[in-house]
Amino acid sequence: MQMTDSVRCLKGVGDKVEKNLNKLGIYTVEDLLEYYPRTYQTYQPPVELEAVVPGKRQAVIGWLHRGLARIPGGRVEKTAGLLAEGDRKLQLLWYRMPYLRKQIGIGRTYIFYGTVKEKKGQWIMEQPEIFEPESYKKLQNGIQPVYSLTEGVTQKLLAKLIRQVLDSEVLFEDYLPEELREELHLAEYNYALHHIHYPKDQQSLKTARRRLGFDEFFLFALGIRQMKMTRERSFNTHPARSSKWVDIFKEHLGYALTGAQLRAWEEIKKDFSGEHVMNRLLQGDVGSGKTVIAQLALIMAAEAGDQGCLMAPTEVLARQHYDNFVKDFEKFYEVSGIRIRCGLLTGSMKQREKKQMYEAIENHEIDILIGTHAVIQEKVHFARLGMVITDEQHRFGVHQREWLLDKGDCPHVLVMSATPIPRTLAIILYGDLDISVIDELPAKRKPIKNCVVDPDYRPAAYRFIEKQVMMGHQVYVICPMVEESEFMDLENVLDYTEKIKKVLPSSISVDYLHGKMSANEKEEVMERFHRRDIQVLVSTTVIEVGINVPNATVMMVENAERFGLAQLHQLRGRVGRGDAQSYCIFVQSGKNSTAKERLEILVKSNDGFFIAGEDLKLRGPGDMFGFRQSGLMDFQIGDLYEDSDLLKLAGDCAKKYEKNIPENLMRRMNRYMKMASKDVIL
Ligand code: ADP
Ligand code: MG
Repeated sequence: MQMTDSVRCLKGVGDKVEKNLNKLGIYTVEDLLEYYPRTYQTYQPPVELEAVVPGKRQAVIGWLHRGLARIPGGRVEKTAGLLAEGDRKLQLLWYRMPYLRKQIGIGRTYIFYGTVKEKKGQWIMEQPEIFEPESYKKLQNGIQPVYSLTEGVTQKLLAKLIRQVLDSEVLFEDYLPEELREELHLAEYNYALHHIHYPKDQQSLKTARRRLGFDEFFLFALGIRQMKMTRERSFNTHPARSSKWVDIFKEHLGYALTGAQLRAWEEIKKDFSGEHVMNRLLQGDVGSGKTVIAQLALIMAAEAGDQGCLMAPTEVLARQHYDNFVKDFEKFYEVSGIRIRCGLLTGSMKQREKKQMYEAIENHEIDILIGTHAVIQEKVHFARLGMVITDEQHRFGVHQREWLLDKGDCPHVLVMSATPIPRTLAIILYGDLDISVIDELPAKRKPIKNCVVDPDYRPAAYRFIEKQVMMGHQVYVICPMVEESEFMDLENVLDYTEKIKKVLPSSISVDYLHGKMSANEKEEVMERFHRRDIQVLVSTTVIEVGINVPNATVMMVENAERFGLAQLHQLRGRVGRGDAQSYCIFVQSGKNSTAKERLEILVKSNDGFFIAGEDLKLRGPGDMFGFRQSGLMDFQIGDLYEDSDLLKLAGDCAKKYEKNIPENLMRRMNRYMKMASKDVIL
């Protein structure tokens, strides 16, 4: 067996299974092995019936007084059993598993593992897993992987296939140079693979994670450096020297730019007349006012006779920018008599509208094009593209940036990001970009009022929300999950929406938003929120990026302890954008005191860089079973804040090896960068 063999070479993989695996991006043995667990699970000691707590996933030990029976009726075949002790009863229910009736003996002790729910006053456990006490004990000693699934791919299937490869004792070649591995005390590749899927204990999991986390950063850093080496900095063929238009525009903004904005602008202005094209990262915390700087750059390019393009990660965000720009340029025309023409291009536009826009772009009837990925489609031909800006860069793949560059004749490039990372790390992640930082917020903002509360506080919070809505404001409620999960007892968007509808007056319109909805559905909900047709929006973190609804004044975050502080900070940036006082309520459900301490950092500070740093200090070596904490740049294993030392190391090593990359390592690097272009996020 080789890494590059198709998964078809595995026992139990036929046409159908293969197709299902493909849906997860698993084509080869290598893909399978790199399909790392989403999290891990340990099996808790089993409890007797009298200690059962409804609503939780648990292992219940007991025996059946009577055999399992078929339940008549219904479309789905059902098998049921009953655990009973005194008054306590727990109904067990299986679907489509008639064979269990022969397998499960009366009077023998088993462990039934599943979620106990309360239905019509009765306790019920649906589709429990069944273990003999001995085999359960074995599980209890280990740490079990939990994989992300899709239809037709179960935990069992993935676990079985991965086991099959690992147990085959085929050794895969380690692509990291040995001297590097030794120098950094990194685990050997096969060991790491084994223990990322089946950790012997916490320590071996940690060792495996360190190795594979390093690999991720290293391959990425190497890839970025490679990109930089193959792309020489071009000469500036789009010089712009006059800032007459910009000066007029600035004068009529209605506010003065902050010192930090002015500094960033001066750096950008200098690039315009430099020897080489601009290649710059503009980093600034949420609400620091990056958009207006982008606008100035686009105006400067327009004055020089160039077209500009602003690319946003979502349709809602693109539309938002477009609407604001059109308004601003209308005002600009009134005071200056100069017309700057804006166009919008997004995926959901009608074919006819798109075609018109393509023509307008090609004929230079548009100076500034704003849009989503649609702007990098083949059909878009600019007459003279001189300035390209991407907003919320961490949401774009590396290669998208490259494609956009190909659209013009070496345009200036400005990428904007709110990801609060230190400069040393930014240099590794953004490779060859110069960096400008806006490290100051506009002065007049009313600081957001924050609080960290227990779930008991909810009734008061709902009353507060009601009051704010009555005053005409809008509210976000954030939950960590989309739907109920078997493994985690966390709030989910779907159930929460129903719950909050019931406690709020029916005159308040509540709806939800999550990442599993189609792009169109999401856009529609956001439109309605913008139009104020929705007053309370229950959402996952999909809301995190760039949304500007200044009328929203409350953000309530459920299970706040499950999020990284940097992410919470981004989320919080959705409120406090208007004139009204805004509020942020972090609901902390765990009993953990460090969690509370962590959240208090958010109350104390509003500085993204500071918060990320403090978070890192407090979390120490990290919560191994936790969610991905930062959620800002999607590395599979590595975490930007927690593993920042590893990232630095990887950056240094990449520098050392970039001129002399062994063949096997080169293959892995190319593979990694190809995947990164799909959805990893720079
Ligand atoms: P972000 O950096 O998060 O993209 P935006 O560019 O969306 O922030 O700016 C947030 C809000 O602040 C906008 O409504 C914008 O008009 C306003 N703003 C930007 N700069 C200033 C400033 N210097 N003074 C006052 N308000 C500003
Ligand atoms: Mg923004």
